Amino acid sequence: MTTPADFGDVGAPEFRERAHELVEWIARYLDAPERYPVLPPLVPGATRNRLSPSPPKEAEPLARILADFETQILPGLTHWNHPGFLAYFANTASAPGVLAEFLIAALNVNGMLWRTGPAATELEQLTTDWLRQLLGLSDGWFGMINDLASTSTLYALAAAREVDAELDVRRKGLAGRDLPVMRIYCSEHAHSSVDKAAMTLGIGFENVVRVKADAEFRMRPDALREAITADRARGMKPIAVVATVGTTSITSVDPVPTIADICAAEKLWLHVDGAYAGVAGAVPELRHHLDGVDRADSFVVNPHKWLFTPMDCSVFFTRRPEVLKRAFSLVAAYLETAEQDVVVNYMDYGFQLGRRFRALKLWMVLRAFGADGIAARIRHHCELATMFAGWVRAESEWEIAAPHPFSTVCFRHVPAGLSLAEVNAHNARILDRVNESGDIFMSHTMLGTTYVLRVAIGNLRTGESHLARAWELLRGGAAV
Ligand SMILES: *Cc1c(COP(=O)(O)O)cnc(C)c1O
Repeated sequence: MTTPADFGDVGAPEFRERAHELVEWIARYLDAPERYPVLPPLVPGATRNRLSPSPPKEAEPLARILADFETQILPGLTHWNHPGFLAYFANTASAPGVLAEFLIAALNVNGMLWRTGPAATELEQLTTDWLRQLLGLSDGWFGMINDLASTSTLYALAAAREVDAELDVRRKGLAGRDLPVMRIYCSEHAHSSVDKAAMTLGIGFENVVRVKADAEFRMRPDALREAITADRARGMKPIAVVATVGTTSITSVDPVPTIADICAAEKLWLHVDGAYAGVAGAVPELRHHLDGVDRADSFVVNPHKWLFTPMDCSVFFTRRPEVLKRAFSLVAAYLETAEQDVVVNYMDYGFQLGRRFRALKLWMVLRAFGADGIAARIRHHCELATMFAGWVRAESEWEIAAPHPFSTVCFRHVPAGLSLAEVNAHNARILDRVNESGDIFMSHTMLGTTYVLRVAIGNLRTGESHLARAWELLRGGAAV
């Protein structure tokens, strides 16, 4: 029998014993996450204060470490896998995804090159193509898996910056040169990752033009056209437009077909951000929200948001992988391989060298749910949202704040006779009361100067009873 002393790791017998216990623990957890409050007591420093400030000198037994996880760390966690989690964009680490993560860690594959994990690379190409088919997109898309939509959008804009080979930013950088100011356009409701990409790429967030939206929070194509024309007249260089399918605050959908027309006429890179709502393309009656996406240069959708895949998994598609490769490929001598001209080496398509074997979890989740299962769950979440919105609409002094095409509802309580500032503060207090319950965790957003509450349904275990509890807490909070 091997012991840790033999090779420094825990030996197989103990691993087996602890792993069996852990599987039991996880199974119980996934079965009833409601045993824990969805939001822990929000006391800064509480977890840190429970833990040893310095690392252990002597090796500690796994059993003790796992026991401490339960008593010292778990009480300080927010439970994203809890069915009462209705904040931000609720998500699910489904059981097939959890098992995949176990295997991913055990194999520890780093798919930087095809040869450092041939099956990992090929599975990444296959699963992203499966997802493309599920969403009803045409062929001709190159897919890769990144950690986050923030990364995927950064890649899209880095490629857009590289389209004009004369700029040669890749080689010469931006500083100390006579270059035009580059401009990126997105709606006023687009995600802050667009600004962060502009910051990171040296374009500057002031050069992200926030185009006005219409009454339903969709980018106005006429305003986009005007902004581009005005910038060109000032000698600036428009490079890309980011359209959003499912904006983060209110899940509005920009008019992608019209924006695609403008991008074609203006020769601009079109990136579509469908981080949350992109997977709605798997549901026939929601598929129209992806109309026009096939004409984009790039598209991002996050299976870790609404496709039951554990954090992290963001799928980035581009029709122009050669431009992405031009932006990022740099092959050091020690990374050259004989097969590099006939295989995909994913390190050529981004700034990261090493990459996790995320394709395995996407493959397991897609197979374990199937196209029909995925569509059924997403459809059900949308039905729950419609039901919840119905309760809000039916009650006096409560109002729906924006259309809800998917599974997220924005709303607020508007008691008569209060100023806007007072109504805003009143709704913020309601939110605090709901979140103190431990049963439900919700978040808010600002629509202009209006504070609105937000219910986002995306956890597989969320059902009518959880929404009924949320509604009870909301009405109770409003009555105080
Ligand atoms: C959540 C979200 C993002 C950011 O996603 P990350 O994967 O956390 O970077 C970007 N865009 C939209 C529309 C989102 O909803």
